[in-house]
Amino acid sequence: MFEKRVYNFSAGPSMLPESVLLIAQKELLNYNGSGMSVMEMSHRSKVYDEIINKTEELMRKVLNIPQNYKVLFLQGGASLQFASVPINLMTKNNKADYIITGQFSQKAYKEAKKYGSVNIAASTEADNFSRIPDASELRLSEDADYVHLCTNNTIFGTKWSYVPDTGNVPLVADMSSSILSEEIDVSKYGLIYAGAQKNMAPAGLTVVIIREDLIGNARDYVPTVIDYAVQAKNNSMYNTPSTYAIYMCKLVLEWILSLGGLKELNRINREKAALLYNCIDDSKMFSNPVKRSDRSIMNVTFKSVSDETDALFVKLAASEGLLTLKGHRSVGGMRASIYNAMPTEGVESLVRFIRDFEKNNS
Ligand code: PMP
Repeated sequence: MFEKRVYNFSAGPSMLPESVLLIAQKELLNYNGSGMSVMEMSHRSKVYDEIINKTEELMRKVLNIPQNYKVLFLQGGASLQFASVPINLMTKNNKADYIITGQFSQKAYKEAKKYGSVNIAASTEADNFSRIPDASELRLSEDADYVHLCTNNTIFGTKWSYVPDTGNVPLVADMSSSILSEEIDVSKYGLIYAGAQKNMAPAGLTVVIIREDLIGNARDYVPTVIDYAVQAKNNSMYNTPSTYAIYMCKLVLEWILSLGGLKELNRINREKAALLYNCIDDSKMFSNPVKRSDRSIMNVTFKSVSDETDALFVKLAASEGLLTLKGHRSVGGMRASIYNAMPTEGVESLVRFIRDFEKNNS
């Protein structure tokens, strides 16, 4: 039992900014004089229309999305996009390139294989996904309908530090665990998708940003709700969207703007990550396996000297209000997810805890 809010290092769903939760609390029973909660509102109402339109407007502003891109608010998680992308885009040459840098890009690859001919353009599996491939390692096919990658690997704690040049072949990116953490050049991508539950909103919303010329090529068997053309034409309201999560996304985007936008947020994110990596690098007990230039600033993985010590670390940290630090079950050790909403004080508390733990247990 905790009397106050904890620092929650969960990989997702994860922390939301406290000020956002307070606004949601204030507006919970009666949103803007509507006499009802956003949860209770028809998605076809005028007041809800204003919410979804405002969310899109803010998303465009924060990410500087060019006019020739559509923003879609969908459901089914990033995992449904693993299928939606090939069904909608792998339709000219029936071929795509996938770059495998972790478990989620592997899942995306496996799903895509159901729909066509899929080439692994590079994989860092042989290095336990501890790095991102260099541009020179990529074996791209000229006739691929798209190239798929995952910009930040939530489980392994790696991040692409460059955008590969794919020429005229559209680049498709799973940005679930890095979206809104830094400025990006949207025009370098054909399609970006991300589950909301890390940096955008509670779970239940998936954002897709797609270049208009890639819309409208889906296979004829495409389920209607995942046809980008249908969702784009209907302003993401072919069916009932994830109304409350979209509203929360609006509040999060307003919070980002109030901080000064993505440039400032990224500066803070880099500072937070540096605090933690420096602490791990200085330690004799803990280590991080990732190639330095490819370290994620959102998911920081580390291990101590044994599984027993890892378990003790996670247990004692939890008793101090530092929660959900256990690494993903496939890799073990620890993982601190320090998304946008994790305050610097949370990371400072973790750093203090790591230092004290090492002092007391070595
Ligand atoms: N891609 C990445 C990079 C992720 O981190 C996750 C979830 N942790 C997924 C895809 C799967 O997302 P979802 O659970 O929203 O389907």
